Amino acid sequence: MNLQETSTLSPNIVPRADHNISRTQISENALKVLYRLKTAGYESYLVGGGVRDLLLGREPKDFDIATDARPEQVHALFRNCRIIGRRFRLAHVQFGGEIIEVATFRANQDAAREVGGAHNDSGRILRDNTYGTLEQDAFRRDFTVNALYYDIRDFSLRDYVNGIADLRAGTLRLIGEPQIRYREDPVRMLRAVRFAAKLGFRIHPDTAAPISALSTLLDGIPPARLFEEILKLFLYGFGLQSFESLRHFGLFARLFSRTDAILDTEEQGFPHTFIAEALASTDARVNADKSVTPAFLFAALLWEPVRQQALVLEAQGMHPGEALRRAADEILPEQISHVALPRRFATPMIEIYQLQPRFAQRDGKRPLRLLAHPRFRAAYDFLMLRAAAGEVDTELARWWTEFQNVDAAGQSSLLNAAPAGERGRSRRRRRRRETSPSA
Ligand code: ATP
Ligand code: MG
Repeated sequence: MNLQETSTLSPNIVPRADHNISRTQISENALKVLYRLKTAGYESYLVGGGVRDLLLGREPKDFDIATDARPEQVHALFRNCRIIGRRFRLAHVQFGGEIIEVATFRANQDAAREVGGAHNDSGRILRDNTYGTLEQDAFRRDFTVNALYYDIRDFSLRDYVNGIADLRAGTLRLIGEPQIRYREDPVRMLRAVRFAAKLGFRIHPDTAAPISALSTLLDGIPPARLFEEILKLFLYGFGLQSFESLRHFGLFARLFSRTDAILDTEEQGFPHTFIAEALASTDARVNADKSVTPAFLFAALLWEPVRQQALVLEAQGMHPGEALRRAADEILPEQISHVALPRRFATPMIEIYQLQPRFAQRDGKRPLRLLAHPRFRAAYDFLMLRAAAGEVDTELARWWTEFQNVDAAGQSSLLNAAPAGERGRSRRRRRRRETSPSA
């Protein structure tokens, strides 16, 4: 669809009486911004995930606003406003912990190309700060269900792209020609997977078709941006679904190549089981409002390559904990050249690994010392995952579960009952543990 065609399109307008969005569901701060823009004579609409999620009866994660006011004009209206972004300049209006993002209408690709937008050789957008009309703003968005506008003047919805029909049908569909839209911004492939998993939508066949062939375009995306996307894919309650879908489209290989290669070759399904267990338990934690951390997530996603590399080092005589740390050090540089992992998460991730062999040491004061370690809880949770995946003796896992839950007397009787003289390795090995670092 080109701009000449689209600019003459009139939107489908759904009046207030015919949709379920009420102002009481919109954050007060977003309403404040919408009304102040309107009073100052600008157009202002709620758009994006806020509108989509409200129409679906879900609670929006945040509220985005689109307006014809320029960022500086928005800035002039709010004291609590900052202009951010290099690729897109956006206004952030801050109310305590809540940030309302206000974006000026922008034109889509065709217009941007003519008036000085920039692309690289593969068609990726490098700059696109070309302001446009409301219609143009609708067509430059990614999916039809993300391009619905709630008009603060009369509380109607404006739909230029048949987004409402797709929303009702549970269809995730890119606006425009999918090949072109993915080349402009390959992260849209990850967004397709994410929204389909989050909303339980089906990706329209035309939107799904080019993904596998274009998956390598992710290699050109800055690692820091991919890190942010990974968190959105895996830490919001639908991680397992995201993982299966990323694997299906060949996208997981572009993000975690070492892990993916092992998933492809492993016969007994162990790493797959392990990652699935990790993501299912992360999803369960999120859905129970418990905390989750990037360190634990990455520990799970990178465990298999690190574990296998540690075995090689152990075979050369290295102590198991040291071998795990060195293995992580060897694997991380390549990994973070694709997906960033800030130090503040990499450090605790490596600690989780290093503590694993210590669970096998149940003699003397060692268990009490491990229990007091600041990273004990995360390392214990990790041990439980390994046990659930069949990688660690369930007796050992049960022992630790009990040990931390009993009083001092209980602890000393458990210490007495623990197999004596255990060092690194349990004696009754199963097939799997022949190849597993100790614990
Ligand atoms: P959520 O906030 O629930 O994750 P969202 O749809 O609000 O989902 P955001 O990343 O907050 O997603 O972006 C807000 C809106 O901006 C989107 O709904 C979409 O219309 C537009 N948008 C965001 N990223 C892109 C992109 N890469 N290409 C085109 N449009 C985009
Ligand atoms: Mg949003």
